[in-house]
Amino acid sequence: MQEVFNFSAGPATLPKPILENIQQEFLNYNNTGLSVVELSHRSKEFFAIRNSAESLLRELIGISDDYAVLFMHGGASSQFSMLPLNFLSKGHSADYVCTGYWSTKAYAEAKKFADINAINALENGDSYSIRPTVAWELSSNASYVHYCDNETINGIAFAELPDVKSKPLACDMTSSILMRQIDVSRYGLIYAGAQKNLGIAGLCIVIVKKELLNKVNKSIPRLYDYKRCAEESSLVNTPPTFAIYVLRLLLDWVKSEGGVDQMYRRSKENSEWVYQVLDNSQLYNNKVVKEFRSNINISFDIQDKDLQNKFLDQAESHKLLGLRGHNSVGGVRISLYNAMPQAGVQRLVEFMQDFEICNVV
Ligand code: PMP
Repeated sequence: MQEVFNFSAGPATLPKPILENIQQEFLNYNNTGLSVVELSHRSKEFFAIRNSAESLLRELIGISDDYAVLFMHGGASSQFSMLPLNFLSKGHSADYVCTGYWSTKAYAEAKKFADINAINALENGDSYSIRPTVAWELSSNASYVHYCDNETINGIAFAELPDVKSKPLACDMTSSILMRQIDVSRYGLIYAGAQKNLGIAGLCIVIVKKELLNKVNKSIPRLYDYKRCAEESSLVNTPPTFAIYVLRLLLDWVKSEGGVDQMYRRSKENSEWVYQVLDNSQLYNNKVVKEFRSNINISFDIQDKDLQNKFLDQAESHKLLGLRGHNSVGGVRISLYNAMPQAGVQRLVEFMQDFEICNVV
């Protein structure tokens, strides 16, 4: 059977060796006679998994002891509520930078908790770009500034870290974590759902400056309390143990493949390959201005919608899956997370070129 390549935005493709490893260990983890999904979250075996996931994450991303690493439930969307729940209340404010679907969702949720200043930073005419930081009207009393590093749906990414002076930055890195080096010390808080570059759904990683934990609101639900979660090593209740186990395997894999620098090099190479096809095409339209192009999610459309459907159908028959764009925008979306092999990109690029030759007269 021809190998299948999964370009879905998430849950996303995982490296084959990891799937094989999971399968191999599934019935008998480390000679315990138990499956990894049967291990108690308070057992020494699970503690070893959890601790090694945390230390690998610290090593790969460069997270110092000034930051706590939390393993939380509920995916990234739950952080849209938890962040304001922990740090805002009546009379407080925060700045939310809106550059697309996910950052706007985060803003809509935060608005339920406090007075939020929305900054419309998306230039959305014939093309997409992000307005420069100097044009943002930041408020003087904001407790933090929230933004989304990589908007997964339209493929718009920040070229560099926004300069918001002394305000703590809170960042949704769900689709970009582990894809390039970041300077963690510039952030107050980073969160990322796991189902793209950190394994499988059900887990959200939160990296938070310990100093900020003293500002966490009192009397909030136990499970959503960052301070308690940090104090109790993310064991306030049963954590998503299997997802943490897969995270550990994935981080091991990233390390053995050369770490974040190598991941960045690959994703740059892979995305440039696709952008070259788009730039030389009369059929595929990508709206993002070059400077803000994502290396991770590349969206485009074909004007003739019948032809676009034909593209998606034929892609599937070439075993190129998960290319349909998000429901909210339609079109085509190519997601190139760390686990996408070069062979997948090659087949996709060849398919796109052949499709254009056959369908443009
Ligand atoms: N933020 C971003 C940038 C995302 O891409 C997604 C999911 N695609 C989310 C938040 C929401 O994630 P979840 O489904 O885990 O809540």
